[in-house]
Amino acid sequence: MFKRFSFKDTLAKTRGSLMGQLSGLFAGSEIDDEFWDDLEAILIQSDMGVDTTLEVVEQVRERVRAERVKHPDGAKALLKDELKKLIVDNTPLQLDKKRLLTVVMMVGVNGSGKTTTTAKMANHYIKQGKKVTLAAADTFRAAAIEQLQEWGRRCGATVIAHQPGSDPGAVVYDALKSSLARKADLVLIDTAGRLHTKFNLMRELEKLYSVAGKQVHQAPHESLLVLDATTGQNALSQAKHFQDAAKITGVVLTKLDGTAKGGVVFAIRRELGVPVRFIGTGEGLDDIQPFDADAFIEGLFVE
Ligand code: GDP
Repeated sequence: MFKRFSFKDTLAKTRGSLMGQLSGLFAGSEIDDEFWDDLEAILIQSDMGVDTTLEVVEQVRERVRAERVKHPDGAKALLKDELKKLIVDNTPLQLDKKRLLTVVMMVGVNGSGKTTTTAKMANHYIKQGKKVTLAAADTFRAAAIEQLQEWGRRCGATVIAHQPGSDPGAVVYDALKSSLARKADLVLIDTAGRLHTKFNLMRELEKLYSVAGKQVHQAPHESLLVLDATTGQNALSQAKHFQDAAKITGVVLTKLDGTAKGGVVFAIRRELGVPVRFIGTGEGLDDIQPFDADAFIEGLFVE
């Protein structure tokens, strides 16, 4: 299903800079202080974040000492292992659980790729045979409503939308009601990305949570925060803003195809405490992949 992109292609830019430098480092003949300084600098440049980098380097250093590793190549295997530990997550995606109707809230700032991602996810699940509804609850922007309607036509999802400026709670109410009536499997709710204050954002999202929870048991089952990987560490501060207002259960990292800063994946898991669930790899409907930690690490280190 994901033939167009592999992690190997998606991560070409990140690998070109990050791993290009690392392979130079690992090709060296000894592990000295300079080796550790260089490793630190390279990881920080990939947008892994200072804290995450220091922690990872310390762990690798500790293991190199304990396991008496002498050659940089041995350190490479340990680095891969420690990086993997950072992003491996054992909690299953609620979206894939069997239930009458699964409700997912999509949140994030405008421009992060939220609407496109919502459509890509719809397409992904429709291809698996699911019946999907899109709720255009970003009623602030007429363009967002139209965009979602167009995506819905293209991928075969039913789109529930009201007039621009209308109450997003009413859109969610209608979307859930119609989904239950049509026996749909999944509702993806596109929410507004620009509210003037955190207080407004919080109030708005709380209202949507409450509308959803009243109609469907324990809804929303996932709240996915859409983050633009090209904004690197800024994406993280944005995320913290949203975390205060929404009960974020996972991240969708978009535009990973357009950045050399793929290291932010590691910082997200550590600093936000939620897993990356999907990654965006381009502008088309098929340009999305469920996040797979093993494939991601292998994609980074491929020669
Ligand atoms: P929203 O304002 O958050 O709803 O953002 P949009 O969905 O309108 O996307 C903003 C821009 O980012 C559009 O030009 C999209 O085509 C582009 N975009 C979204 N996801 C990706 C991705 O994974 N890769 C690339 N290269 N572009 C993307």
